[in-house]
Amino acid sequence: MPLAYIGLGSNIGARETLLKTSIEKLEAGNDMTVTKISPLYETKPVGGPPQPDYINAALEINTQLHPGQLLDRLHEIENDLGRERTVKWGPRTIDLDILLYGNEVVDNERLTIPHPLMHEREFALAPLSEIAPNVEHPILRKTIRELLNNLESSSG
Ligand code: ATP
Ligand code: CA
Ligand code: CA
Repeated sequence: MPLAYIGLGSNIGARETLLKTSIEKLEAGNDMTVTKISPLYETKPVGGPPQPDYINAALEINTQLHPGQLLDRLHEIENDLGRERTVKWGPRTIDLDILLYGNEVVDNERLTIPHPLMHEREFALAPLSEIAPNVEHPILRKTIRELLNNLESSSG
């Protein structure tokens, strides 16, 4: 089974509890195991309207679900936890993104994997590098650690 990596973010409500609850909900099914959990990072919002700071984390999961099924599961959990989509990149109780799914490259109307902005986002790469530093981005052919180092050196 492929290992996939999920990015989590929350900036409304009980942020840590929302992250923990979403991990519990991911583990509740019999078609997925959470195999690694990164430390939590408090980050400044990037893009969108002025809004509170985030807590971000990353997970490694081992799953039988195909990418589209995994996205459905993530959306169910987001809905359960009160996610509302009003403003692009607006504040949210919980955001669950598929960052990587094995070495697969997916690009359709619903789903782009690897996540198209992950390599530009320190809030995604910093937690991911704690659990998957040597995993390679299947398009950019750089490891997560290299992508994070590139970002840190380009932003000063
Ligand atoms: P961003 O995608 O820039 O992080 P966002 O997470 O705020 O923004 P959402 O409103 O959560 O955006 O998601 C919009 C849509 O993005 C989802 O309905 C989903 O179909 C699509 N999507 C495409 N690729 C992915 C992916 N790799 N992970 C999660 N959603 C994705
Ligand atoms: Ca996101
Ligand atoms: Ca999302």
